[in-house]
Amino acid sequence: MIWDLVIIGGGPVGSFAGYLAGNHNLKTLIVEEHNKIGEPLHCLGKLSVHAFEEFPLPHEPIRSNLKGGYFFFPNGNFIKLKKANPDSYILDRSLFDIMLAKMAEKNGCTFLMSAKAIGIEKENNKTKLIVEEKGKRKEIETRVIINAEGAKRQFAKKLGLRINPYLVSLQYEVTGLELLDNECVEVYLGLEYSKGFFLWISPYGDMAKIGVAVKPSENPKIYLDKFINTLKKTRNLKPEILRTYGGIIPILGPYEEYLYPNIIIIGDAAGYNKSTTGGGIYFGLYGAQIAIEQVKKYLKDSNINHLKVFPKLTYKKFGKELKFTKIARKFLDQLSDENLNEIYKIINSEEIIRTIENFGDTAYQTSILKIVPKLLKNKDFYRVLKLTPKLLDSLF
Ligand SMILES: Cc1cc2nc3c(=O)[nH]c(=O)nc-3n(C[C@H](O)[C@H](O)[C@H](O)COP(=O)(O)OP(=O)(O)OC[C@H]3O[C@@H](n4cnc5c(N)ncnc54)[C@H](O)[C@@H]3O)c2cc1C
Repeated sequence: MIWDLVIIGGGPVGSFAGYLAGNHNLKTLIVEEHNKIGEPLHCLGKLSVHAFEEFPLPHEPIRSNLKGGYFFFPNGNFIKLKKANPDSYILDRSLFDIMLAKMAEKNGCTFLMSAKAIGIEKENNKTKLIVEEKGKRKEIETRVIINAEGAKRQFAKKLGLRINPYLVSLQYEVTGLELLDNECVEVYLGLEYSKGFFLWISPYGDMAKIGVAVKPSENPKIYLDKFINTLKKTRNLKPEILRTYGGIIPILGPYEEYLYPNIIIIGDAAGYNKSTTGGGIYFGLYGAQIAIEQVKKYLKDSNINHLKVFPKLTYKKFGKELKFTKIARKFLDQLSDENLNEIYKIINSEEIIRTIENFGDTAYQTSILKIVPKLLKNKDFYRVLKLTPKLLDSLF
């Protein structure tokens, strides 16, 4: 049997692609290396309301509504940004993945579980995907492959693609941690909390998630445990850790999205994560949608240009956003705690806070540029002009 499409990975992006392929009656197989969808878990599960407005996603996994956040600076001060309405949700990520996989299955997609994609063999214009299913080698013939294997990119590496920049993270699901506001995340910036990213606390139903991501040279557990000890003292909290999980977050993407002749790469495997926050689900779903449109056209007339053009189409949809977060990440990585405290001083004005609350959008972070004219009017703005060389460095 020759499949129209084989998707590697039954994460949210792979399953959503499978669901969409079913809408077009494509003969689709998803190979997933684990024996259960949604496990092992790694994610916080924050997903913008845009995603629920723009895609047919299940609402059952929603555990908390988020309207904003408290952003703590190294000097201990914070800025609270809160919108009138939720701008994102915190999901039960395992349930979300399971429900998307069920949608794909219901739409006619077949799942091959405990099957790891380990390579390809090319034969004329056909491609065989080589998988290891329960220790046995298996060849699967297909006209197109979509690689949605996630951040580790083990399959991509087998195809000779390089390792790209990433962060390592650790997260605890806890009880006994009272948040400042159940509709806001808490974000802790500065070198004491993380080198290369930030530390977060998020509501999660009647629990909370507390996590950190750091550069690969650092150990996230050290930062997280130190922070929990501080919380015990400063906020008199006694968090009880119920579950621990970690994972890697691709940054500074996107990476390769198309490999000649018939492999498309989407989701974390293609580095669709915002380099500022690590969020990858929203653009991952868009990547899946664009990929299936192109695969459908290719299967109809065998014109390879439909696949070749894929990276250009994703760039048009969300490439500028990813580029903006890439520049922002490079800039943030160069800042000292003192620089961050200076930034706090110029942002901490009623007018700027209201502008961010009104126009800021965590899914589309270029929206933050709307505060620039207001910043220029701020009398303390000259203090951060000295950061201009760092900003220029980040552009390249
Ligand atoms: C700590 C942390 C917090 C995060 N928080 C958020 C957040 O709040 N919001 C957000 O949008 N994003 C967040 N992310 C990122 C988010 O988890 C990813 O963007 C999202 O999971 C990407 O989905 P995916 O389907 O591309 O990959 P994955 O969810 O990683 O799924 C890939 C699937 O492929 C399977 N697989 C891998 N290799 C193979 C192989 N060779 N053969 C067969 N199967 C294979 C895996 O088992 C897995 O099931 C976070 C990430 C981390 C680490």
